[in-house]
Amino acid sequence: MTFCQTFVVVLTVHFFLPTFLLAQTMYRQVDLLVTGGTVVTMDGSRTILDDGAVAVKGDTIVAVGPRPELEGKYAAAQMIDATGKLVLPGFINGHTHVAMTLFRGLHDDVTLNDWLYKYIFPAEAKNVNEEFVRWGTRLAAAEQIRGGVTTFADMYYFEDAVAEETKAAGMRGVLGETFIDFPAPDNKTEAEMLAYTERFLKKWQGDPLIHAAVAPHSIYTCSRKTLQDSAALARKYHAPILIHTAEMKKEWEDSRKQNGMSPVQYLDKIGLLGPDVVSAHCIFVDEADRKTLAQKQVGCVHNPSSNMMIASGVSPVAEMRAAGVAVGLGTDGPAGSNNDLDLMEEIDLAAKLAKITKMDPLALNAKAVVEMATIDGARALHMEKEVGSLEPGKKADLILISLDEPNAVPMYDIYAQLAYALKGSDVETVVIGGRIVMRDRKLLTLNQAEAMAKARQYKKAIAASLGMQ
Ligand SMILES: [Zn+2]
Repeated sequence: MTFCQTFVVVLTVHFFLPTFLLAQTMYRQVDLLVTGGTVVTMDGSRTILDDGAVAVKGDTIVAVGPRPELEGKYAAAQMIDATGKLVLPGFINGHTHVAMTLFRGLHDDVTLNDWLYKYIFPAEAKNVNEEFVRWGTRLAAAEQIRGGVTTFADMYYFEDAVAEETKAAGMRGVLGETFIDFPAPDNKTEAEMLAYTERFLKKWQGDPLIHAAVAPHSIYTCSRKTLQDSAALARKYHAPILIHTAEMKKEWEDSRKQNGMSPVQYLDKIGLLGPDVVSAHCIFVDEADRKTLAQKQVGCVHNPSSNMMIASGVSPVAEMRAAGVAVGLGTDGPAGSNNDLDLMEEIDLAAKLAKITKMDPLALNAKAVVEMATIDGARALHMEKEVGSLEPGKKADLILISLDEPNAVPMYDIYAQLAYALKGSDVETVVIGGRIVMRDRKLLTLNQAEAMAKARQYKKAIAASLGMQ
């Protein structure tokens, strides 16, 4: 080695190597960096960053802050440029029955009671099997991801198949196996329901995406014993309990007659209510009921499209929020009581339904309904430590919404734009648990064309089974 070569080696070791190592330590390696755009964090202070960034490692957010600061700190394997777009926590659909996409539009413009007993229960008995549930869930996953939904709560049959398809699509789900007092498409007796659900709860324990849950359908389809047995099973496995609550006048009247009290008071009396319960609808809830729901830390899910379509009534959302109840938003349906899974439509309608009901445009504002679709939706599902806002330590569930659309300009107020102007179809990119599941409107985890073709096939078979043509 000549003197010159030695000099180069010494120079390399003493100068370049430390510089290289310094650079390595200066930049923290992460998996995904979303840079630029307006980051609507929905954190405790409702921070909005005009030129923000989000750093993700594995399935978790490690930093949220100004773009220049994060770009100077993190190096990422994957980048998403969000310049000119909104970056939000993924929307939370707090109540639905995803496999029912295959019954979309089957029988509309009837009462809930007629829809359930004359149409949907018979249609389910003839058509629902595990394969049906898988295809319905795939179709729903495509629709929900397209609309920016990253977490949903579901109540149906063959929920283990819903869980498998939800996980395959890369979505997060609180998925409740239904208990109901008649032979269901999957389990014919309460004993079978208990055995199936216990296997289901055991199988998904600790899964990062799937929260297996127990779903006693309602007080009008479940005996006290079914309600209590299913809740006891849920509590044995620390699983959430999903239930339709005070969703129709008849349910309230029957409960007053049979139990001498409202549905909420009855559920409380039999020990069902607690901080693990998610109550869908909560329409017929008076002041005492609201106090009970708040005290028992029950999460409630408001479904404005469904309530309007079936004319069930109007949930006192503002009063529930004022009483300290966590209120999320749901699509319900997607058959008979809504017919789509577009949560942005629910954001819009939740505000407008409250306004028209009270004849007061201040009844529920844009910011409140965006909260209901994100952080309050997470609180309603008891998942606020996991999702609902863009903050370090939470799961990396985020969406990019285009602002380069005729309906998106000009923008004076972000929450008003989200609530009243932007549409589900403006969602461009969706990340769930750090995984990009839709990029520039292209689904990456699902075969949408195949799911749609299957849906058209199912329509023919279902119509034939009911003697329709
Ligand atoms: Zn429902």
